[in-house]
Amino acid sequence: MKRLIKNGLEVLQFENPGFSGCTHGVFTRKGGVSIGQWTSLNQGGTVGDERSHTIENRKRAFEFFGRRVESIIDVWQVHGNNVVCADQPRALDEPHTKADAIITNNPELTIFMRFADCVPILLYDPVKKVIGGVHAGWKGTVNNIVKDAVLAMREYYQVNPTDIIAGIGPAIGPDHYVVGEDVYAKALLTFGEDVDQVVTISNGKIHFNLWRANEFLLEKQGIKAIESAQICTACNLEDWYSHRAENGATGRFGALIAIGEPHA
Ligand SMILES: [Zn+2]
Repeated sequence: MKRLIKNGLEVLQFENPGFSGCTHGVFTRKGGVSIGQWTSLNQGGTVGDERSHTIENRKRAFEFFGRRVESIIDVWQVHGNNVVCADQPRALDEPHTKADAIITNNPELTIFMRFADCVPILLYDPVKKVIGGVHAGWKGTVNNIVKDAVLAMREYYQVNPTDIIAGIGPAIGPDHYVVGEDVYAKALLTFGEDVDQVVTISNGKIHFNLWRANEFLLEKQGIKAIESAQICTACNLEDWYSHRAENGATGRFGALIAIGEPHA
């Protein structure tokens, strides 16, 4: 990914030129007004930070790309498998729908999602002009939320999966992601004989590779253009929030995608 810097914000963008027809980025934690454990561009509204700070941080993130905050479509991310097919923004005083993926073909909307170790996945079909954002933790990964997002893009917008360009953003890496037997058992059900591609055992500990797991699941849907950041949130706390490395006392970084070039 390449890094853009403006007004103190530092944002990573996928480098695949196929993304050029859309506005997208994953925000680091730099450039915001939050302090303490939330320093500084915290986008999480339910993690104990001051509301006025998260509102200012969201405004800064949207301004970075010249998007109006009122264009936002975001959800209450619950590690489930619901996909929201959006045709209008969420009014700022309207409650969030519980879901972990959002898709749309409406260029007036800005998909916005929040992360701290879970995998951000951005999808763009430059042919049908459809975008998607996915939040995949271990649950979303073993329950194949990316498949549900891609199937919804096919069903609602007649997207051909081979046209989709996918980006896998910063998330907790296999080095830092030790899981229990229960997670391993679920991964085995999802990945079968390919489980060795996504789980490694060293010193008796089970390491789950969420990056590769979601890449693998995207490949299974026929997606060929997949860029993976391979950046571990827990290894890079100056840039990212990490739920695990910070023992839950942290914020959320944002990821944004919209159809069309940035208005700057
Ligand atoms: Zn790490």
